[in-house]
Amino acid sequence: MQKKILLVILGTIFVAFAIIVVFSSISIRDFGIKGAEEKAQIAAELVQDGLTAHMLSGTMDNREFFLKKIENSKNIESLWLSRSESVIKQFDKGFNNEVARDEIDKKVLKNGIVHKEIVETSRDAKLRITIPYVATAHTNPNCMTCHNAKEGEVLGTVSMVLNISDVRYNGFVITSVILGISIIILFIVFFIITRSMKPLSSLFESINFVMSSAQKGDYSKRIASRSKELEYQNVATWINSLLSKIETTLQEIENVAGRFLSKKEHQHPDMLIEVRDMIHELSDIYKFKNTIEFDEDKKQVYARIGLILSLKFGLKNFSIAESINTNHVPQIVYSNGGLSSDIGSNCRALRIKQTVHSEQFPNICETCSKLTEHYICIPYTISDGFEILLNIAFDKKEDVEKTIKNIPRLQNYIDSARPELVSKNLTEILRFSSTVDSLTGLFNRKYLDEYVEKIMAQSLRTKISYGILMIDIDYFKMVNDNYGHDIGDNAIRILSATLKENIREADMAFRFGGEEFLILLHNCEEGSSVAVAEKIRQAFEKKAIKAPNSQEFYKTLSVGVSDFPKDGDTIWKCIKFADIALYDAKHNGRNCVKKFDFSMMEDKKDKDF
Ligand code: GH3
Ligand code: MG
Ligand code: MG
Repeated sequence: MQKKILLVILGTIFVAFAIIVVFSSISIRDFGIKGAEEKAQIAAELVQDGLTAHMLSGTMDNREFFLKKIENSKNIESLWLSRSESVIKQFDKGFNNEVARDEIDKKVLKNGIVHKEIVETSRDAKLRITIPYVATAHTNPNCMTCHNAKEGEVLGTVSMVLNISDVRYNGFVITSVILGISIIILFIVFFIITRSMKPLSSLFESINFVMSSAQKGDYSKRIASRSKELEYQNVATWINSLLSKIETTLQEIENVAGRFLSKKEHQHPDMLIEVRDMIHELSDIYKFKNTIEFDEDKKQVYARIGLILSLKFGLKNFSIAESINTNHVPQIVYSNGGLSSDIGSNCRALRIKQTVHSEQFPNICETCSKLTEHYICIPYTISDGFEILLNIAFDKKEDVEKTIKNIPRLQNYIDSARPELVSKNLTEILRFSSTVDSLTGLFNRKYLDEYVEKIMAQSLRTKISYGILMIDIDYFKMVNDNYGHDIGDNAIRILSATLKENIREADMAFRFGGEEFLILLHNCEEGSSVAVAEKIRQAFEKKAIKAPNSQEFYKTLSVGVSDFPKDGDTIWKCIKFADIALYDAKHNGRNCVKKFDFSMMEDKKDKDF
């Protein structure tokens, strides 16, 4: 910038000086030539007057001396006369053969116009001038008294060659002096301008540097103004304080916002953009957190996380698995893009509690390597014994690397969902525990009520049948009486374990009350409910129940069986029928299985089923 201004100023001054130098050298030259011309004119007039005087005094023959004298004048190199044809006719050619010497003489003799010509060589400069003598009767003495000529006729010429090299030399000297002075002035101007512009240009350069750094995201640079000018100092101070304000404010925002976000590498070199992104991220997380707060259960929260993963992070194929207790196999709770294979209890990421991905080592996770070539497994501890695992599959290696960079951002969402997941998990545990019998771990009567409602609605649609077993230990009161209540409890536990061992996963066992148990056999074929009951009866009677003093005893069961919907159009009706069958078994010697039959109703007073 400074250079540009300097160049413009100096260029203008230089051009101005150059014009002055050229004009002055031309003027000096013209002035010199004019002087030489005037000198020649005077010499010519002198010659003319001298010759006239010589002529009048009759000493024309002595004019040679006079002419030589003039010729010897300074700067006159040569001087000669030429006579016109009429003069030669009248007075002859004269001593020196005063005839026209060259074309110029002839031309001037003819037209009577003064001829001037400058001949310049590298060594010298000469002025050739030829002046005509014109005959006139109006002068004193009258030309016509001696010359047989007409008015205005050219009588002769005086030609001179004047050396005007000194004019050129003087011009050169003056021009050089002007040039020298110009250069000195130019240097002085240059020096003054440079000196006066230096603070402004250095301030400008500093602003340029500081602002371009800020534009690139570096707000730490400051303007260094060494100028004593108050105005310059003010500009520097204002810009510097503005930059400081921006820098500290951004730092503060980053620190404050950073507390709510997990640590991550700077995504953008410009802190302003970084902070803007952080605020956007915080706002999105806040919205997410607010939304999941009102979600009904964990399932909805997982679905919400799944949506964020696919919409915000562009993940296509992934699953979320939940591990509630490290002994349990993780359960897939959400899947997208078909990635829903069982994780298995030997999940590496859950075991080492670190992110595992396919780029770490070939075949690093046995389970995931079987599913896909490129994957990432990220474990998140939600609370003690409650972990979730994010399992993501990719088509390309590059996508793995891209998502690894996004793990801290992902973490932000999981972190914000953590309290909700914990509280919803606790609610589920509480709800679960209120439906489970503490002695046996089987569902209680309360849950049976809920469950029957659920399966009734379902089975009407799906036409699923249920086998219903009502089980009661024979003469159980005696156990309590003979061995005590604790041994009785233990016998109940052994029975519940026997029940679990002999039913399928889809079947449900309930502690109906005391030492009475109810089993709902899911999708049970006709006849097989009795077979299951028989299997249970036989299994239990073989189970030794420990008594004090290393004693053992065995107990038997009575079982009543009914089939839904074959025996009744509601589950509750069929439960009642199973109970009637149990009553029948008790009355028929116990330790047996009885299938409900409507004939059993005859013994009952209440026949309004
Ligand atoms: P029956 O063959 O007719 O069934 O004879 P029973 O003695 O088993 O008679 P009943 O089924 O009416 O006996 C219920 C007894 O079970 C009463 C109670 O003392 C005992 N009992 C109920 N709940 C528990 C329990 O949680 N623990 C223990 N130890 N005993 C229980
Ligand atoms: Mg009993
Ligand atoms: Mg009983």
